[in-house]
This record gives sequence, C-alpha cells and structure tokens, in this order.
Amino acid sequence: MAQMFYDDDADLSVIQGKKVAVIGYGSQGHAHALNLRDSGVDVRVGLAEGSKSRAKAEAEGLTVRTVAEAVKEADLVVILTPDQVQRKVYADDIKPNLKEGAALLFGHGFNIRFDYIKPEATSDVLMVAPKGPGHLVRREYVDGRGVPVLLAVEQDPSGTAWDLAQSYAKAIGGLRAGGIKTTFTEETETDLFGEQAVLCGGASQLVQYGFETLTEAGYQPEIAYFEVLHELKLIVDLMVEGGIAKQRWSVSDTAEYGDYVSGPLVIDPSVKENMAAVLADIKNGAFAKRFIEDQDAGAPEFKALREKGAQHPIESTGKDLRKLMSWIKDSDNDYVEGSAA
Ligand code: NDP
Ligand code: MG
Ligand code: MG
Repeated sequence: MAQMFYDDDADLSVIQGKKVAVIGYGSQGHAHALNLRDSGVDVRVGLAEGSKSRAKAEAEGLTVRTVAEAVKEADLVVILTPDQVQRKVYADDIKPNLKEGAALLFGHGFNIRFDYIKPEATSDVLMVAPKGPGHLVRREYVDGRGVPVLLAVEQDPSGTAWDLAQSYAKAIGGLRAGGIKTTFTEETETDLFGEQAVLCGGASQLVQYGFETLTEAGYQPEIAYFEVLHELKLIVDLMVEGGIAKQRWSVSDTAEYGDYVSGPLVIDPSVKENMAAVLADIKNGAFAKRFIEDQDAGAPEFKALREKGAQHPIESTGKDLRKLMSWIKDSDNDYVEGSAA
C-alpha cells in the first residue's frame, strides 16, 4: 500500500517561511500561484518579457517579474512552464540566478528523469504533481477541497525536502484530498505510459477504428459518432465513480455480455505486447529523445501528426453534431489552435 500524506501530517509554516517563485502561469502555474497566495505564502510569478500570461497574473493582483528576477529572490523555484521548454528556461534564466541552496519544485518529473535538467547537488529537488488539470486544482481549493497529489524527492541535501514538499502540497490544497509518496522515475514513466497507451493514444485510436469500421461498412457517420465517441463519456464517468464493475452493473445485460466476449477479441494479448514495447521506449528514453529533438527542430513531426489527426472524418462529423447538444457550449470548441493553457 502506498504511503499517504494528509493535512495533519504537514506544517504550513515551512512554506510560509519561504519566498516562492512560480515560473509559468498556465494551467498548473495559475492554480499553484493563486492557491499559495491564498494560503499565506510569499509568491511571485516569473514570466518571459512580453508574455501573454502577464496580464492575467497581474489582474489577480500577483507580483510578476522576469524569470531571472523572480528566481534571484526565491528560496523555492517552482518550474511550471511546458515540459519541452523547461530545459532552456532552466539553463538561461534559472540556473545563473538561483540562490545558493534554493530548492527546485516540479509538477511532472520529465526533465529530471531524462536528465534534461541536472540541478546542482546543493539544491533540494522536489515534485508535487496534482492528478488533475490546473483549473480543477484552483476550483477545488476555492471550494475548500483539493485534488490528490503525488509527492517525490529526488535530491535532499538540506535533509528537509520532505517537510517542504508536504508543506507545499498542503498550501495548494492537495493534502485535503491526500498525497501519495512516489519517485520522479515512477511518476514520469507511469504518467507517460498512461497517456500514450490508454488515456490519449489508446482511447483515440480505439475510437477512430470504431468509427472507421462502422462507416466503411456503410453505416451513417452521425450514428457511428454517437455510438463510439459521444457515449464514451457516460462509460468513463461510471468507471471513475465505481470502477469497471459499476460500468458493467449500469449497462444492459446485453452490453455487459458483449463486453466479456468481444472485448478480449478487440483488445487481444498482442495489444499488451504492444503496450510493453511502448513502456520500454519510455524507460530507455527513446520517446523522450524523439519528442525533444522534434520540438527543438520546430516540431515538424508533431505539427504534421496534429494536422493529420484533425483531418480525420470523425472530427467534421462531431463538429456538426455537437451543435445539436445544448449542454455542449460553442466555447468548448475553442481548442483548435495549439494546446490548452
Ligand atoms: P502550460 O502550457 O499551461 O504553461 C504555459 C505557461 O508557461 C504560460 O504562462 C507561458 O507563458 C509559460 N511559458 C511558456 N514558455 C515559457 C518560457 N520560455 N519562459 C517562461 N514562461 C514560459 O503548462 P502546464 O500547466 O500544462 O504544465 C506545466 C507543468 O505541469 C508541466 O511540467 C506539466 O507536465 C505539469 N502538469 C500539467 C498538468 C495539466 O493538467 N496541464 C497536470 C499535472 C502536471 P506565455 O503566456 O507567455 O505563453
Ligand atoms: Mg502527462
Ligand atoms: Mg448503444
């Protein structure tokens, strides 16, 4: 059983006694900065000159500085820019300005696990990774609750890194829900595996194949869309509430029987072998290398794959059908350019 941390295990005064710089004000950055401030922590936000996020942070009354200025003042630097730019931000603006003995905190272990950032031996290196998007991290905090977090310590020269990690996790509301002790290696490898094999990669491909199979057999795309994409949410909600067992309990006996007999035909043991190959490429760094090299070259592969995905016929079918559903807002479709922030 995993080791858990809750509010009573952590001392808020540890983080309240530090000057904290949150670098980046996107999904996670805004939530961490605002929750820290509301927990009585001395926080400033570090952003690049001309950053689009600056106005949003200032509108909340937060102090915004350049990354270099924010880092110079800080006892704890929280690195919440996108993973693919962290290496450059660290080399250019964080490392040269970091106070002797200042600690580093990450929301995901990617750059430490794959050695893109190699902190000085004098820095504590911690992770507090919420298991939810930043907007939920902020909303739950405001409502007096929290999103569960993962905690890890990679370097602990001060001997106090765990106290700081727990105090930080409490300040962003994570220990109201609960914190799970992990390592940078476990968090990074399982996070990448989950999103590639099941949540994003696996689910997207499964839905596309389902849609293609039905439409190629002559069924109408609108009908196929409802059966293989739209209803997925209902199924996933049931799984989140009560596991696969609740999903099977809730659907018809016909659907439940079909689950047992046809599921293993579609997702056969070869899929598990493919998953093991994906995990191997995560663990040996091949995936990280391919991602970062492509990003460094201006992301030609990434952009081409994104464009190809957007051209799949399920997308245009869905765009029209979603207009029929009043509970899906037009603004839910404002994702077309780039990624969420
Ligand atoms: P975002 O993409 O939302 O971060 C965008 C922010 O980073 C913006 O404020 C942007 O500024 C700023 N930024 C971008 N480039 C630079 C730069 N070169 N220098 C300074 N600031 C920069 O990131 P996320 O919040 O999604 O991810 C942050 C970390 O949290 C990652 O490690 C991620 O893996 C982790 N994480 C993310 C989760 C999520 O749900 N999103 C969940 C758990 C962990 P500008 O406005 O100028 O573009
Ligand atoms: Mg991830
Ligand atoms: Mg049905």
